Amino acid sequence: MELTYCGAAGVVTGSCHHLRIGRQQLLLDCGLFQGGREEEARNIQPFPFDPRAIDAVVLSHAHLDHCGRLPLLVRRGFDGPIYSHPASIDLVRVLLKDAAYLEQADVERENRKRARRGEKQLKPLFDLADVEAVMARMRPLQFNAADEVLPGVAATLLPAGHILGAASVVLDVHDAGRRKRVVFSGDLGPSDTTLLRNPAPPDSADLVLLESTYGDRNHRSRSETLQEIGSVLEAAWEAGGNLLVPAFAIGRTQEVLALFASHRHEWNLDRWRIFVDSPMAIQATGIHLRHADLFNDEAQAFMAGRSLRELLPNLHETPEAAQSMQLNNIRRGAIILAGAGMCTGGRILHHLRHNLWRSQTQVMIIGYQSEGTLGRRLVDRAEVVRIYGEDVRVQAGIHTVGGLSAHAGQDELVKWYGSIGGRPPVHLVHGEKRGRDGLAARLNHDYGVIARMPGHGEVITL
Ligand SMILES: [Zn+2]
Repeated sequence: MELTYCGAAGVVTGSCHHLRIGRQQLLLDCGLFQGGREEEARNIQPFPFDPRAIDAVVLSHAHLDHCGRLPLLVRRGFDGPIYSHPASIDLVRVLLKDAAYLEQADVERENRKRARRGEKQLKPLFDLADVEAVMARMRPLQFNAADEVLPGVAATLLPAGHILGAASVVLDVHDAGRRKRVVFSGDLGPSDTTLLRNPAPPDSADLVLLESTYGDRNHRSRSETLQEIGSVLEAAWEAGGNLLVPAFAIGRTQEVLALFASHRHEWNLDRWRIFVDSPMAIQATGIHLRHADLFNDEAQAFMAGRSLRELLPNLHETPEAAQSMQLNNIRRGAIILAGAGMCTGGRILHHLRHNLWRSQTQVMIIGYQSEGTLGRRLVDRAEVVRIYGEDVRVQAGIHTVGGLSAHAGQDELVKWYGSIGGRPPVHLVHGEKRGRDGLAARLNHDYGVIARMPGHGEVITL
């Protein structure tokens, strides 16, 4: 058996691991490289394998950095099954369609400029037809049930707690008369979130591919985080304006809504009007409610079959652009959740433009903000920011809430690995240098293992 790292090796995007088992070839994830221009240029490059020769794909979860190159894989000749959890399949459909629309819009904008300069026109990376072709290849796999994904290869999905449907993948492989178990953690979530069950580690493994996004640090504790949100809401009400919450459409938005519902009285939320201003977030919320059996026991008991409207009576969804524009007329008392999570595009930009210059406005940042994004500029207390070519003075209050990450912190990653019997060899993926170094040091200190840190394109024989 041979394993090749084709993405998320030393970086946090482009997750893609290639396994050659005898004559068969299997992919774990096929994600998009994201971030700067240079990173994204890697998406156009040919795959380091022949897509036509891949027999099957197992997909850990519905984030673009894990599934975003599937349309390219299919466009370039892959015609096998793609296995994933049913909730992930539902989310992937929404996510990839949105990505195809955005790609189309970007290319059209760029092509208008190119036409004026007399330059060659670009083609989109993929389109809706490619997305439909991906969806036609999707096959559901339930949690905790081994299923044969290739002759002699069984896959079991374990809950990873990261987002709805997110899984760790256990591969039991019969290769040349020997049995081997390869475990891919996928992205692991933190424990004790409002909605999802805790990550479940496997009991044994011969090799572990472990994510290391936050391998060097722990998040703020849950109780501190809840206190922080409570005080931001209070401060925002006192300030007398609106509260803007940039949030990822899948995962963070639903986690915040669940927090709002369960602390509705404590945080005095009935005095606010809460808006989810994102078509993708609205669809993703519907998918969460359809898969409520994946919620943890506490969340299921709390919801007890009640609708979102019963849980948060003053929640409003605004899918239409015209409804979104109406929100500009509201001067106070609105909580607006909108994407993009790092303020790199989407409807949140309009709300920031209309509200940032007012001192009554408050902004609550709940997710990681990459270098170079507008969200990061706000966190770094920029006095003036540029939105749609216009300078906007930042008079609003900016609050950063630390503990709402969808990723496990260092202690939780170490604990997950420690629950696996026999201290198997571990390879650290999906982390930048800091995260990988920090996690490797902890694993060595706690368990005496020396973690391997594969580079991009590295081939390992098992
Ligand atoms: Zn993820």
